[in-house]
Amino acid sequence: MIAQVSVDVAAKQTDRVFEYHIPQELTDVAVGSRVVVPFGRRKVQGFVVGISKTTSYTGKLKDLLVVVDELPPLTPELITLSKTLADKIFAYRITILQSMLPRVMRANYRKILVPITEEAKKLKIFKGEPLDLNEVSNLNTIIEIKKLIKNNQAKIEYLVENKAKKKQIAIYLLTKTKAEYQQILKGLRKTAKKQQVLLDNIVKNYHEYPKLGSKIVSELDVSSSVLRAAVKKGWLVKKEQEMYRDPLKDFEPRKKKIQIKLNSEQTHALNSIGKSIQKREAKTFLLEGITGSGKTEVYLHAISIALEQKRNALMLVPEISLTPQMVKQVKERFGDNVAVLHSGLSEGEKYDEWRRIRRGEAQVVVGARSAIFAPLKNIGLIVIDEEHESSYKQNDTPRYHARDVALLRSKFHKCPVVLGSATPSLASRARAQKGRYELLLLTKRANQKALPKVDLIDLKTVEFAGAQFDLSIPLVDAIKEKIAKKEQVILLLNRRGFASFMLCRNCGFVLKCPNCDISLTLHKDTQQMQCHYCGHKEPIPRRCPNCQSEKIRFLGTGTQKVQEELENLLPEAKILRMDVDTTRRKGSYKKILDSFGDHQADILLGTQMIAKGLDFPNVTLVGVINADTALSLPDFNSSEKTFDLLTQVSGRAGRAEKTGRVMIQTYNPDNYAIKLAQSQDYESFYQKEMRVRFQGNYPPFFYTTLITITSKNEQSAAKEAFVIKRKLMRHLHAPTIILGPTPSSVAKIKNQYYYQILVKYKHEPKLHDLLHQIQDDAQLAQKRGLNIYIDNEPERIM
Ligand code: ADP
Ligand code: ZN
Ligand code: ZN
Repeated sequence: MIAQVSVDVAAKQTDRVFEYHIPQELTDVAVGSRVVVPFGRRKVQGFVVGISKTTSYTGKLKDLLVVVDELPPLTPELITLSKTLADKIFAYRITILQSMLPRVMRANYRKILVPITEEAKKLKIFKGEPLDLNEVSNLNTIIEIKKLIKNNQAKIEYLVENKAKKKQIAIYLLTKTKAEYQQILKGLRKTAKKQQVLLDNIVKNYHEYPKLGSKIVSELDVSSSVLRAAVKKGWLVKKEQEMYRDPLKDFEPRKKKIQIKLNSEQTHALNSIGKSIQKREAKTFLLEGITGSGKTEVYLHAISIALEQKRNALMLVPEISLTPQMVKQVKERFGDNVAVLHSGLSEGEKYDEWRRIRRGEAQVVVGARSAIFAPLKNIGLIVIDEEHESSYKQNDTPRYHARDVALLRSKFHKCPVVLGSATPSLASRARAQKGRYELLLLTKRANQKALPKVDLIDLKTVEFAGAQFDLSIPLVDAIKEKIAKKEQVILLLNRRGFASFMLCRNCGFVLKCPNCDISLTLHKDTQQMQCHYCGHKEPIPRRCPNCQSEKIRFLGTGTQKVQEELENLLPEAKILRMDVDTTRRKGSYKKILDSFGDHQADILLGTQMIAKGLDFPNVTLVGVINADTALSLPDFNSSEKTFDLLTQVSGRAGRAEKTGRVMIQTYNPDNYAIKLAQSQDYESFYQKEMRVRFQGNYPPFFYTTLITITSKNEQSAAKEAFVIKRKLMRHLHAPTIILGPTPSSVAKIKNQYYYQILVKYKHEPKLHDLLHQIQDDAQLAQKRGLNIYIDNEPERIM
């Protein structure tokens, strides 16, 4: 038999399948298997993408060397999907195959030096084992290595390592009858106290065995050496057993049977989706429902329908709304059938959850973007919550959009996709308008609560509380009033740190990152200036680095500064801050939310990570400290992003009995995105924004592709960009629009200069092949230090 293998080398020449002979002893090879194959002088990992009896290749095929896993990690469906997707988004197939696996399963290559001669084996550098070349940096050692290789005393080999480790637990089994143990106990020396304890326990609790090693040790207060001795004497047998790490262990496992009665709009939506599940239709629904209208309830009911049909369900939520609250809700409904995949898990936990899915032990998968590749079989429903979220698009290679992948998988499984949002993306809403998606509307809040009242505060005219220009008097008064009533407040500020830049008032100098074209942010807690793009850190300057003047000012604001201001203005209030800086450690996210939920704090201040999905009944005021941060970005969808964010965060207020209130501070109270967010009027926003997009020839009226060219050398990036532009001009014609090349809005990141070209088109049959050519040429350009990225339907084109 012959295996077609996609090898783990992301390059143009290797972006095809290679054939290998399957030796007799490797019987468990299947489509989807991960294998190790000889490739040139090396061994590399790859995936079996096909198996055939014959080959047209006339030479002698090499043998497959190793099958890595017992169960092929990928399903045939995912193998096929990788091919379709690679073509669609201009990525190498192997890059997509790799992103389908948890990170720990990606191959780790080690280059080692193996001694050949007896003489070499005795050399000090080997210490009895091969030398890891990745760890050699000493020049003398390098010279010695070269000599050994030249004299044929040692050779280089490549090791493919599998980083994924299963967690093992030890279980102890009995070997004798109860009477026999009593016999042994009697004959024991008086001094063997600990062994006595163990045998005594075995005799008294005979039925409790086999027992976990850790349990024996803790219950009997004996050391593991006692267990080892017992095994040696033949009293017990030790068995290693694989165990899953359970990321949900903090939640009570009991299933709650809360049967909420759906209202008529929810029922109508559920019926449509349910019918489609039963009829096995690859149909897409857009569930548009205002915040608090009970979309989640519709998803959960629909998942139940899929399960009743003996089919599985996949639910995506944005990373930042994959809150413990959300996970808990799903877990309570579906218990142990749920697997969760998100970045809050340790690599080991992710791997374990992933294996449960692959083995068919989980029927419901909840996860962030990359969970769209979960190796779930027999899918009966795919849900994408907050479908407008830009985080569903991966910003790095491979640049896939989870929504597009969902549609491909839905075709394969013949199951419906439900896209849900209070503020659908223009693209999805336009498709629903055309009838390509079925629109389902939820117009009322499920608990009959009115939407919160939203006030705009004009920062141009309002008076500020305190000496800083961040918090207005009306906002601070409202906070005080709520705290006095023992109610809680959420405050949003989309910028972390203390001050966003350092300005010299003497010479106008702004302190920028040495690697990026962006100003450094002051972080007071760590006493450093930080770059939010590359992580560069440096001490806070006391004089201007340019003119040595002491007249420097730290301007702009961030969460740290607002926290300090709040502490000054409201000394009694307890404040929790939630941003990247306070949530780095695993579990800290949950800890902050739990303690806010327990009312251990009055104010939760945070970046956009607090805008989604949180459901705290005692929150009656939501304040937006500056609504203009997103608006000021020169992007085609910045109004949409602003409208979405303000609507989402407003939805956090007044979710239960008490009425909610929202206050939005802005310098642009007349801007339509902000005004319509105030009235929470998605429909009008959609109409208005569609006109704006139409006039600007932007999506959804045009398709877009962004080509980005980067280099350490600004001129070569620009030059290459013009070469690509000319190539496009030769083959593409009106009404296609080619914009650029222009420097990107952040023109330099990590010492790389960025240039970009935007292609806007309606129907351009030649473009697909042309872009594939550009992708192929990119590899040659890479040798000249240039990187070229193609982004199909970019979320950002600044
Ligand atoms: P959304 O996801 O649309 O913002 P949720 O699904 O979070 O809304 O629902 C908001 C609140 O309303 C939740 O507390 C939920 O339990 C409740 N809820 C949902 N559907 C109903 C219903 N039919 N009757 C009563 N309460 C409901
Ligand atoms: Zn200066
Ligand atoms: Zn930087």
